[in-house]
Amino acid sequence: MKKDENFSKWFDEILLNAEILDNRYPIKGFAVYKGWGTRILRDIIEMLERKLMETGHTPMLFPVAISEDSFKKEARHIKGFTSEVFWITHAGDRKLKKRMLLRPTSETAMYPMFAQWIRSHADLPLKVFQSVCVYRYETKATRPLFRMREFLWNEAHTAHRDWEEAEEQIREAIKIYDEIFKTLGLSYYILKRPDFDKFAGAAYSIAFDAWNPDGRVNQIGTVHNLGENFSRAFDITYEDTEGKQRYVTQTCYGFGISRTLAAVISQHGDDHGLVLPPEISPIQVVIVPIPYKGLEAKIEDYAKGVFSKLKEAGLRVHLDETDKTPGEKYYYWEMFGVPVRVEVGPRDMEDERITICERVDLKRTSVPLEEAVQLINESLKKISKKLKEKSLLTLKEMTVDVSDLESLRKAIKTKKIARICWCGNIGCAEKIREESGGEIRGYRIDIEEVPEHSCIICGLEAERVVYVARAY
Ligand SMILES: [Zn+2]
Repeated sequence: MKKDENFSKWFDEILLNAEILDNRYPIKGFAVYKGWGTRILRDIIEMLERKLMETGHTPMLFPVAISEDSFKKEARHIKGFTSEVFWITHAGDRKLKKRMLLRPTSETAMYPMFAQWIRSHADLPLKVFQSVCVYRYETKATRPLFRMREFLWNEAHTAHRDWEEAEEQIREAIKIYDEIFKTLGLSYYILKRPDFDKFAGAAYSIAFDAWNPDGRVNQIGTVHNLGENFSRAFDITYEDTEGKQRYVTQTCYGFGISRTLAAVISQHGDDHGLVLPPEISPIQVVIVPIPYKGLEAKIEDYAKGVFSKLKEAGLRVHLDETDKTPGEKYYYWEMFGVPVRVEVGPRDMEDERITICERVDLKRTSVPLEEAVQLINESLKKISKKLKEKSLLTLKEMTVDVSDLESLRKAIKTKKIARICWCGNIGCAEKIREESGGEIRGYRIDIEEVPEHSCIICGLEAERVVYVARAY
């Protein structure tokens, strides 16, 4: 199973063999999350929700059905989503008087309620979130985890007194996402999208574009300042301290849970299977006993002792007592990406030691049982660090500076992310897409990059250094 030779095939095999997801569900774009995949997703969700609650966001659950009236209130929003909406039109064989839709995103489900709840400045800021599935009839080719018609995400929506407070919220949202993605060892660019590519109804949009081995960036999170666009449409006002009615300023941000899982699989996985960051691995340590003739029972006991010791220390540990051979067990748990394997054989038992093997590079070390807990914890930290460093290195290697169209074509064709200078003109952006197949994804907000050339297309003065790539 070679990741480098055929990423797409490799990815599909991992999804099936590591019990992440089964894509054979009989409706295109819908899939079944299996045991291992669901457990990882839950860990990601828990990590995110904990952070959102710590920063004053309230969990809520809004209905999946949205009325057509609500949906149509913000003109740009409806224009952006209308072609991919699933409509609910019938009850049995009776046609509904008013049709409804399945949420493609929840602005229009939440904001009529915001208008009810928000009365005065004391009700602000309002910060809510939910982790739910949303529905979009994607017309581009669907791809499990990356692009589905039903997909799992977390969306947060906030309302504030003014633009400044909303800007503060945007910074907090970026920080929350950045911390979680970093904990997962992922590498990405945080980009302000060009105006023509911002979220439908937003003042501006910022996105996290993670690298993928096939060169197509994977948008794992987005953060939008909505300004007063929706509050004016939904009449969300508050009374300020001077008794005046004002429109709230809103933000919303979406964390692609399925896409984050896709990024974890694609960035860290190797030819043996998944490689999971310890933070979200359902099992952090798997113990494999190596039986030896005549000593089977003793080794089993020793392995059980090791298991109890690690479990008591708070590690998520599993003892593999199945009838498979040790080799088969290695192969199996490597596929599932468990960060640390502990091998216990006759020699280990005799010397009161264990053998630790780290999934990230499959290196083995023998350590005294007495120090096992401490050394495994160190190992887990080291693994997280290694994954992060490796991923960042790949992002750097994938990114190339390009100053003419021919080199841009070549860069996109060879699965790179191109860094170019652009005048800001939409005509040039369109030409870039037509000629190279890559899209302008935006400019970095974490650092300032000054253009050193003129626009790659028209030769006029460049406004920004932007990143161009194919995208999911
Ligand atoms: Zn230009």
